[in-house]
Amino acid sequence: MCMKESQKPYLRRLRYAVQLWFLLFCIYAGYRFFQFLLHFEKPGQPFVQRPPSVDGFLPIAGFMSLKYFLLTGIIEPIHPAAMILFVAILMTSLLLKKGFCGWICPVGTVSQYLWMAGRRLFGRNFVIKKEIDIPLRAIKYIIMAIFLILIGIAMTPNMMILFFITDYYKIVDVRTMRFFTEMSVTTAVVLSVLVLLSLLYRNFWCRYLCPYGALLGLVSILSPLKIRRRQTDCIHCRRCSDNCPSLIDVEKKTTISSPECCGCLTCVSYCPSGAVEVTLRTNRSRILVRPAYYIASLLIVFYLFVGIGKLTGHWQSKLPYAEYKRLLTPQGTDGSAGR
Ligand code: SF4
Ligand code: SF4
Repeated sequence: MCMKESQKPYLRRLRYAVQLWFLLFCIYAGYRFFQFLLHFEKPGQPFVQRPPSVDGFLPIAGFMSLKYFLLTGIIEPIHPAAMILFVAILMTSLLLKKGFCGWICPVGTVSQYLWMAGRRLFGRNFVIKKEIDIPLRAIKYIIMAIFLILIGIAMTPNMMILFFITDYYKIVDVRTMRFFTEMSVTTAVVLSVLVLLSLLYRNFWCRYLCPYGALLGLVSILSPLKIRRRQTDCIHCRRCSDNCPSLIDVEKKTTISSPECCGCLTCVSYCPSGAVEVTLRTNRSRILVRPAYYIASLLIVFYLFVGIGKLTGHWQSKLPYAEYKRLLTPQGTDGSAGR
């Protein structure tokens, strides 16, 4: 049980630190992946092991692999970490709200840095009118539904096998990276518009466009953990509502069941009377959960699945070196020495 406490600024500092850790890790993995590619693309470059964590940027592959695994019992061996990370992220949402978005996702972190920078630049963030905000929020659910129908319903295991053995799929991670490193004019314009909108509006990408977040939000509704506001202790200062990055009017609610809530605990950290808390719903009652336990559980569940993937040999890609060499070495050059 938690004792009643006042504001908890340490929670925000802890969240920024956790977010930064995952962002830096992703940058490091991206750098290693770049070196891995360089070995095949430029003669004389040393071989660097491909970092499997880059598969985390392939959620569609992860979703396909999960369906394939559920129907056949086989884990697709080319991007196995995509499925492991997809399951890890789904499980964190099922058990611990959309904490992945609030604490781990590097795209969410960059999005947050942008709106924070925008707030400094323009003195505030802008808010889209409710009449426009609601239909805009539907966009991410529509994109999510398209993927769910195409992959979750329409694709059969045989169709998936045919896709898994294509050269396109084998190096879909490389193609994803090149999408950004060898950007077309259209991509650059779209990204620039997104950056501008993210400076103006809080979490523009996450709120309106991210289909992954949409899926996690729907799954998170089932989570037994909830953010609750104790009416008896609330002094109606509105600090929770004013600071919620998901624009949830916490001060007007008792239990936050919105799929937009990313479990960031910002409301908990700002509440001066300790009225906002994390609770665990059981069959008979609600148990208060210390914020530190929530954060620790989030990281444990996430890394538990990563650990299971590693220990069971479903983490590193099984695509042979010769295949990477065939697919990545430009014609007319030699991919240099082997491993
Ligand atoms: S309701 Fe609280 S935990 Fe949920 S997004 Fe808003 S500030 Fe974060
Ligand atoms: S829940 Fe806390 S932060 Fe929100 S209005 Fe009440 S006292 Fe203020």
